[in-house]
Amino acid sequence: METYESLLAAVSAEDGTPVIDPATGEAFAHAPRASIDDLERAIEAARAAQPAWAALGDDARRAALSAAADEVEASAEALAQLIAREQGKPLSGPGARFEVGAVVGWLRATIATELEPEVVVDDGQSKATVYYRPIGLVGAIGPWNWPAMIATWQFAPALRMGNAVVMKPSEYTPLSVLATAHLVNRHLPEGLFTVLAGDRELGEAIGSHPAFGKVTFTGSAATGQAIMRASADNLTRLTLELGGNDPGIVLPDVDAKAIAENLFWGAFINTGQTCAALKRLYVHEDVYDDVVRELAAVAGAMPMGPGTDEQNVLGPLTTQQQFDVVDRLVEDAKARGGKVLLGGEPDRSAAGWFYPTTLVEGLDDDADLVREEQFGPALPILKYTDIDDAVERANRGEAGLGASVWSSDPEAARDVAARIEAGSVWINSHGTIHPMAPFGGVKGSGYGLEFGVEGLKAMGVPQVIHG
Ligand code: NAD
Repeated sequence: METYESLLAAVSAEDGTPVIDPATGEAFAHAPRASIDDLERAIEAARAAQPAWAALGDDARRAALSAAADEVEASAEALAQLIAREQGKPLSGPGARFEVGAVVGWLRATIATELEPEVVVDDGQSKATVYYRPIGLVGAIGPWNWPAMIATWQFAPALRMGNAVVMKPSEYTPLSVLATAHLVNRHLPEGLFTVLAGDRELGEAIGSHPAFGKVTFTGSAATGQAIMRASADNLTRLTLELGGNDPGIVLPDVDAKAIAENLFWGAFINTGQTCAALKRLYVHEDVYDDVVRELAAVAGAMPMGPGTDEQNVLGPLTTQQQFDVVDRLVEDAKARGGKVLLGGEPDRSAAGWFYPTTLVEGLDDDADLVREEQFGPALPILKYTDIDDAVERANRGEAGLGASVWSSDPEAARDVAARIEAGSVWINSHGTIHPMAPFGGVKGSGYGLEFGVEGLKAMGVPQVIHG
């Protein structure tokens, strides 16, 4: 069992890159900095380890990953402390402890998922069966918002399917991912799974390297496109989990008080820094005032502060750049005549990158705060009269990751959901992912599925045996 101090000591490097605590704006540790030579060495080690790992068979691989899940669970508090310090999300609420719970939960769900050979033809004359074989070497590149959880979404199914993995976490949150791998690797063969901390240049090298049969990427759309271009010559398989600008549509039959807390967490989990968070809220005019009042009451009561203080459920933005994005969008909203119902006035002289929980109404759909992914705690609330109009407005823009419909009538909600262009649509909640339900975007939010049996298939290559 690790303590926070022992885990940090195991993964940090004294002469490495400073890692900033977003609650103070000051460095709290240093991360190793991997070179392109380190990448080549990791690839060599992965290539050497992968065939034996694949040959071990599924049961033995599941057993190793199960021991890895127990290992993470035993050091859960240490890992949560590190996430809270590095990424900023609070230990409490749906924060850092919740993230570590998801690491363990997704590992266990990945192990529990069955992937049987599929007999697709068996008519007495012909027989055809689809198998999923290991790809070989999988490259993984991740973001900073849920660093350990998203890393697990990437490495767990890849390893389960018999692959080796070389992973690059975000330069803002390398330690949480290095620490997760440090624990998991106690139960894996040497060289099979390597995490290399580095910046964009290292990511580019992974994206263009012919050794990788697959690259799985979670991050912004622009980077996803860059990886697609860089990998084109190698025809590398890609999973691209990109940004979202998720709409929520509230139908006129809701009980505003009953949905307010789910609306709040749908939008503000991780201080809004969540890919499939509610990023623009369309509310029917009949319930508009009630929904705004109830949501503002919940939002105004949620404490924000350093993630390491137990009483907080909202933390800082992880980076100054993200603070600046949210600040710009809210200032633009004000300049366009948007009315700030809550928040909107950050203390720019205070330490750390805290942006207050903010609700804005009265904007047109072409305001930047509505059109762009804010990835922070500033939610635009928009009124609608006609459901066809609301659906058309919800479907505007490039993104197609998630969406939600809120109603007391699940059937009516499902009818609306079917008309929304998004990979996942939740009813009366938002972003409540499940490890057995496939997750992925459409349109500009990318392609490829994670989780469940589809997620396992995506980490294998299909082979059809005839006969
Ligand atoms: P980002 O694209 O800036 O960076 C992601 C990773 O890509 C980092 O590790 C970075 O070093 C690396 N990178 C940067 N340029 C690269 C290049 N040219 N080639 C290869 N790698 C490169 O994204 P971010 O700011 O870390 O994350 C925020 C974005 O991620 C938001 O848009 C959010 O919606 C999205 N996101 C999506 C999901 C999802 O599941 N769809 C989940 C979480 C976050």
